[in-house]
Amino acid sequence: MKDSKSKQQTDIYTLPVLPLPPGKFIFPHATSILIPSREQGINAAKHAIAENGSILLLNKKTADVESVKPSDLHEVGVAARITQHHERSDSIRLVIEGIARFVVLQFYEMDNLLQAKVQLISENPYKSKSVIALMKDVQTAFEKHLEERNKLRPSENPTPIPNMENPDMLVDLVANALASYTEYQPERFQKILETFDIKERLERVLQLLNEEMELLKVDSQVENKVYSQVRKHQKEFYLTEKVKAIQKELGRGGQDPVTECEELRKKIKAAGMSEEAAEKTLHEVDRLEQLPPMSAESGVIRTYVDYLLALPWNKRTDCKINIDEAECMLDEDHYGLKKPKERILEYLAVLKLVDKLKGPILCLVGPPGVGKTSLGKSIARATNRNFVRMSLGGVRDEAEIRGHRRTYIGAIPGRLIQGIIDAKSKNPLFLLDEVDKMGMDFRGDPTSALLEVMDPEQNDTFRDHYLDVEFDLSEVMFITTANVLQAIPATLRDRMEAIELPGYTGYEKQKIAEIFLIPKQLEANGLKKDSAVFMEDVTQSIIQKYTREAGVRNLEREISSICRKIAKKVVKNGGFEEPIPITKENIRDYLGVPKFTHGRAEEQDEVGVATGLAFTEVGGDIISIEATTMDGGGELTLTGKLGEIMQESAQTALSYVRSKATHLNVPKEFDFEKQDIHIHVPAGAVPKEGPSAGITIATAMISALTTRPVSRDVAMTGEITLRGRVLSIGGLKEKVLAAHRAGIKNIIIPKENEKDLYDIPEEIRESLTFLIVDNMDKVLELALKDSPDTLVEDSSDAPG
Ligand code: ADP
Repeated sequence: MKDSKSKQQTDIYTLPVLPLPPGKFIFPHATSILIPSREQGINAAKHAIAENGSILLLNKKTADVESVKPSDLHEVGVAARITQHHERSDSIRLVIEGIARFVVLQFYEMDNLLQAKVQLISENPYKSKSVIALMKDVQTAFEKHLEERNKLRPSENPTPIPNMENPDMLVDLVANALASYTEYQPERFQKILETFDIKERLERVLQLLNEEMELLKVDSQVENKVYSQVRKHQKEFYLTEKVKAIQKELGRGGQDPVTECEELRKKIKAAGMSEEAAEKTLHEVDRLEQLPPMSAESGVIRTYVDYLLALPWNKRTDCKINIDEAECMLDEDHYGLKKPKERILEYLAVLKLVDKLKGPILCLVGPPGVGKTSLGKSIARATNRNFVRMSLGGVRDEAEIRGHRRTYIGAIPGRLIQGIIDAKSKNPLFLLDEVDKMGMDFRGDPTSALLEVMDPEQNDTFRDHYLDVEFDLSEVMFITTANVLQAIPATLRDRMEAIELPGYTGYEKQKIAEIFLIPKQLEANGLKKDSAVFMEDVTQSIIQKYTREAGVRNLEREISSICRKIAKKVVKNGGFEEPIPITKENIRDYLGVPKFTHGRAEEQDEVGVATGLAFTEVGGDIISIEATTMDGGGELTLTGKLGEIMQESAQTALSYVRSKATHLNVPKEFDFEKQDIHIHVPAGAVPKEGPSAGITIATAMISALTTRPVSRDVAMTGEITLRGRVLSIGGLKEKVLAAHRAGIKNIIIPKENEKDLYDIPEEIRESLTFLIVDNMDKVLELALKDSPDTLVEDSSDAPG
C-alpha cells in the first residue's frame, strides 16, 4: 500500500470503498471471501484490481440501503488486499485479506464509484502487564469457547488460532472468528474496530467471549434435550418399523397408524355415539395419531376408544310385552312358583300400560337355588331383552360399579358398563345378583352408585369414572336378587318391590327334578333322554338323603354327578345299549353313603332341649336349643354363634322366667343370684340371628329349671316379650317346610302368623298340626310334658 499512487503523506491513502452489510466483518489479519453484486461494490472491486488490489471495507449502518451514500457508512474500516478474483456475469468473487484499520478522512464519489481518503490507525507495540494478562485470558477463553462449540456443532469445525505475541493480531482474529458466526449485535463488533486502545479492545472481546460462552451453555442444554428427544423418536421409529417388518414376515401385517386412525374415525361416526362421547373419542384419536404407535400411551388410548366403540350406543332389541306369551314362557321354564310368576306378570302388565321403566325395581328374594337367576332369564326371554348378570356379592368398592378414573394405571370401566357391553344392546335385562351381600368400606359405598344406576330420574345420564362420558341406562330393565330382604341396605330396599321365593316342598322338588333337572343334566352330559331311567321313588330318596336345602341347587348337582357316572358307563361299554335304571337300591353306587338321615327331630322327650325353627340364608331349618343350670354367680352364658338380637331375646326370656318364677313353678331352691344358666344352640359354626327363637329359649330354660321334659314332636317359633306374650315372626313358610323335612308333626306358631298359613302348599299344611299361641303359658302347656295341672292357674299378667 505504501506504493499506492494516491499516497499523499505517510499512512494516508485514497482507496475505493466496498460497502459491507452491517453484520459482515473482516478484521485485519483475517482472510475471507466476498461476492459483491451491487454496482457500487463491483465498481470498487474492479477499480482496486486495476490498481494494486487495495480496497477499503466499510460497514453500512443499516442493511436496507440500495445505493450507498457516505453518510450511510461507518467511518472506521479495514483496508484489505484482494488476493484472488473471479468475474461472473453479474457479480465478482473476491478472496480478501484484511490488513489494517483505517479512519476515513474524506469521501469522494464519481461515476458510481465511492472512494475515501483514509488514515492508518497505528498499533502500539508496547505491552503492559495488564495487556499480557488480558491476552492470556482471551486466549484461554477462546480455546474453551472453541471446545464447547466443537462439541455442539462439530460440522462447523472452527479453526483454532495459534499462540500470538501480538495483542492486536489476537484481538482481531478472535473478533473475526466471533463475528463470522455471531450475527447479533453488529454494533459491538464495529465498536471493537473503532476502539484504538488495545487494553480496552481486549476487554471488549473478552466480554463478548464470556457472553457467547453463556449462550453456548444454554444452547447445549436445549440441544441435549432436543437431541435425546430426536434419538428417542428415532429409536421408536426404528423399532416400530422393525416390528412391522417382523409382522409382515409372519404374515400378520401391522396396521399403518394413519389408516388405523382413519378407520377409528369412521367407526366413531358410525357408532351412533352421543355428541359428547363422539367429540371426546375423536379427540383421543387425534392424540393417538401424534404418538408413536407402540408407545404405552397409545395403548391406553386404544383401549379407551375400543371401550367406547364397544358400547351399544344405539343398538336395541325389539322388546315387547305380550302377557299371554310371557306367561307361557315362565311356565315353560319353571315348575310351580305360582305366586312369584303372578307378581311378575302383574309387573309386566303395568310396564306395558305405562310404557316406561319407571316403577320400583323387582327384587327376587329367596334362599339359593330356588330359581331367582333362572326366573330373571325367563323374564328377559319373555320380554325379548338380552340378559346380563352381575354378582354384587362382596362388592365393597364404589369403583367396582362405576370404574376407576383413567389416571389410575390399568383403569377399566366399572362392571355396570362392562355388563352393558356384554349385553350388546342398550335395553337389556340386567340382573343384579345378591344385593344383600354388598359391603361397604373406606373406598366408598357401592350402594349410592347402585341407587343412581337404578333411579329412572338419574340413570339416563350415568357417568362411569373411566369413560367419563354420559351413557343412558334408562332403557335397561333392572332386576335384583337377594337371599334375605332385611339384609339389603334400607335406602335400596325402599326402591324395590320384593317377590319372595320361599323354597320348595319335597313334592315340588321331585317334580322340578323330573321335568327339568334330569332331562337338562342328561343332555348336558351328552346322554340321550332314554339313556337312564330314574325310578319314581329314587328322586325322593336323593332329595331326602343327599340334600338338605330350600332350593334345588344341590339336587341338580347330585343328578349331574349321577349323569357323569352313567356317561362313563356308556363310554366304557362302547356305546349306548339299553336304559340304565337308577333305583333306590343302587343309588349308593352313584352317590355314596347318604349325607343326611331323614329328619333331625329329637329321638325322645328330653329335659332342657327344645326344637325351634330358624330362617337362615339357606332357607328354613330346625334348631335344637339346649339349656342347663349350674352353680356359679348368676350369669347367663350363651354359646353357638348367636347374633346380637338372638342374645337379647335370650336375655328377655330369662327376665320373663325370673319375674314369673313362682307362676312357672320354678323350685324355690333355685337362686338366680347364685346359679348360672347356660344356653347352647348346636351347629355352632352356623351364625344364627333373629328374635324368633325367643319362645324356644324360654321353653328350654323352663324345662331345665322345672325338670319337665319337652315333647319331641313339637317344634316352635315366636318372639317373646317380657310379659310372656308371643309375637309374630318372618319366614313362616320356609320354617314350616324345614319342620316338614325333619319329620316333625306339631308346630307352635304365633297367632299373628296364622294368616300366613295360606301360603303353605296344601299337601304340607294338611300333613301337619299347627298349634296357635299368643302367650307363653300356652306354649308351655303344649310343649312341656307334665300335666298342665302343675301350673298355677294365674295368668292375670299374660294377655289373651
Ligand atoms: P338362584 O338364583 O335362586 O340361586 P338358580 O336360578 O341358579 O337359583 O337355580 C338353580 C337351578 O335350579 C337352575 O338350574 C334352575 O333352572 C333350577 N330351578 C330352580 N327353580 C326351578 C323351578 N321352579 N323350575 C325349574 N327349574 C328350577
